[in-house]
Amino acid sequence: MSLVRYETDGNIAIVTIDSPPVNCLSHGVRCGLVDALEQADIDPSIQAVVLIGSGKAFSAGADITELGSPLAFAEPTFYGTVLGMLDAMSKPVVAAVSGVALGGGLELALGCNYRIASPGTKLGLPEIKLGFMPGAGGTQRLPRAVGLECALNMTLSGDPVRAEDFAGTELVREIAVGDLRAASIEFARTIAADRPLPRLRDLKVEHPNAAALLQFARGVVKSNRRALPGAMPIIDAIDAAVNKKFDQGMQTELALFTALAESTEAKALRHSFFAERNAEKIDDLPAGTVPREIRTAAVIGAGTMGGGIAMCFADAGIPVKILEVQQEALDRGLAHIRSNYEASFKRGKLSEEQFNQRLDLIQTTLSYQEIGDADIVVEAVFEELSVKEKVFTQLDAVMKAGAILATNTSTLDVNQIAAFTKRPQDVVGTHFFSPANIMKLLEVVRGAKTAPDVLASVMKLAKSLRKTTVVAGVCDGFIGNRMMEEFLRQALFLLDEGALPSQIDKALEKFGMAMGPFRVADVIGNDVLWSVRKRRYIERPEWICSKVADRLCERGWFGQKTGRGWYLYEPGVRVPQTDPEVARLIEEHSASLGLVRRKISDEEIVGRCIYAMINEGAALLEEGIAQRASDIDVVYLSGYGFPARRGGPMFYADTVGLGNVVRAMRRYARNPNGDASFWEPATLLARLAAEGKAFTK
Ligand code: NAD
Repeated sequence: MSLVRYETDGNIAIVTIDSPPVNCLSHGVRCGLVDALEQADIDPSIQAVVLIGSGKAFSAGADITELGSPLAFAEPTFYGTVLGMLDAMSKPVVAAVSGVALGGGLELALGCNYRIASPGTKLGLPEIKLGFMPGAGGTQRLPRAVGLECALNMTLSGDPVRAEDFAGTELVREIAVGDLRAASIEFARTIAADRPLPRLRDLKVEHPNAAALLQFARGVVKSNRRALPGAMPIIDAIDAAVNKKFDQGMQTELALFTALAESTEAKALRHSFFAERNAEKIDDLPAGTVPREIRTAAVIGAGTMGGGIAMCFADAGIPVKILEVQQEALDRGLAHIRSNYEASFKRGKLSEEQFNQRLDLIQTTLSYQEIGDADIVVEAVFEELSVKEKVFTQLDAVMKAGAILATNTSTLDVNQIAAFTKRPQDVVGTHFFSPANIMKLLEVVRGAKTAPDVLASVMKLAKSLRKTTVVAGVCDGFIGNRMMEEFLRQALFLLDEGALPSQIDKALEKFGMAMGPFRVADVIGNDVLWSVRKRRYIERPEWICSKVADRLCERGWFGQKTGRGWYLYEPGVRVPQTDPEVARLIEEHSASLGLVRRKISDEEIVGRCIYAMINEGAALLEEGIAQRASDIDVVYLSGYGFPARRGGPMFYADTVGLGNVVRAMRRYARNPNGDASFWEPATLLARLAAEGKAFTK
């Protein structure tokens, strides 16, 4: 079946892209377009063409499933052949745009002579977000359609605009209220005889001070350490649109596009895009597993996490009841939720109606009887096994058959928690991150007995909560925190040997981490990390960790909440201040160990912290805790501020080369003041390195 339909209505040809769900420009579509355009051009009875998409989209652009395959660039190419044919048509082509015209979809519309759009249509060039830049004239035609400033905004943000906001401009000639197809045919009749044919390529990009604006844009990108790799090439291409002839500009765009597509940073972004999609898949879920219906929810505990989780449900339109042991705790929790929503309302992110709806969806109770009919209950009480036991025993007694019992524990054994009930198959871990209503990541922890349909249900629910989900097996810390522990352990050893918190934080922030480990620790609370270490000292006496953080905690310097931690937090000063007393404490600690402090390079700091994390990631893969290396990357990109342009720790290791990672680890193992056993490569890492293989390919 052809993916492009050709029909006529009198002397108008209607070319319909019919490739659900979003009319991507796959090879088949391109073939169909070329045939249809040729047919319309040859037929003397045809005076104008309407190009339209079937269903809900004009076109969402390139077919990403073709990416990396020869089909992506097979003839007829989009860039050369399809757009070349549009340029050479002897009759006007009207793009009738509805739903979305994104990426190549918008470039296709821009290649037509006119654009008519339905209200609500989204037009955009999101390539930058995927590690690309527009590569089929987007950077050349868009500035000619919307002006320099708007084109820079659209291409550098990747965010779409609404067609209505551009009605009457070169981008959208008219908004068609009602039947788009009929309106476009009507429009095509009125302009069929107009000559010359209007083409964006024939316009100039007018701007009173283009050079200054381009320079400003370059300056902004240069000073932004998290700028995406496509940003500078996009500005260079738009510069060419301003200063070169159209065809020369197109060549510049193509050269920049090709170089970018080959860059490691762009590959990293594409990796993360596919990694996120893959993470939704659970490899061994039996085919045909039907998720359970989740229409109502309950949350146990109205603290930091419970409140945030309840907001996630309310934000998704799911009614939720929060249960606590005491009314004061409920009142406090609800007041916090209300003030969060009030802040969103004041910032214009929620309308008054939405604000009221959200609060109406959240109810509170002190009685287990009142939550028994919820489809899912998420427990978020204190992190103590005895408390979890009390809660799960009660849940087992009151929850209806088939209800999903989820725990938000971050360190306890989900299997042990499941064993507190007579229905371990219904128990699952849902590890939200703080603040739960904002952080994208959700680790779904699969217990030994968790039923497949429970897993499937939680994965589906996570989607409606707009979370990025990764499945993890049961272990202490799951994927994210288990790797983070090794990262932090190295950071503490580095303090003992000669570095200071600010140097370590700066080095890792320069590498691209959103925040260095000591700033993070001060946010989480050093007491929280201390309690984990204290547990380790008892459970694993052989476990080696610097005691320097314990010295800090013994002084009550827990971080932001106590006004001092690794840094000083003075009232009214937003930036953490370095603290000479902390430096003294660290130096004294080194002396107590008999260590002569040395100057440590930023390179060593980054290598030791990041490779420690990667080695643990390899162990997680080996143990089957993580399903695939790319899942680990998703955890780190969406929950731990790992730089997007590095693609996550496992992809980053691949770009360094696993052989190089192992060699560096051996070098660190020879450090006379270090713990050589720490640097024993995980079996999987050692094997892949020896075989010259990678984690993610
Ligand atoms: P919190 O101390 O802020 O809140 C816990 C709440 O549970 C309190 O309001 C308390 O009154 C209530 N509670 C205690 N026992 C109860 C019981 N028997 N029945 C009903 N309510 C009870 O703690 P939190 O930070 O929200 O953590 C909750 C859970 O989430 C813990 O398991 C924690 O490990 C996990 N977690 C926390 C974070 C985080 O960053 N805070 C992140 C991920 C997971």
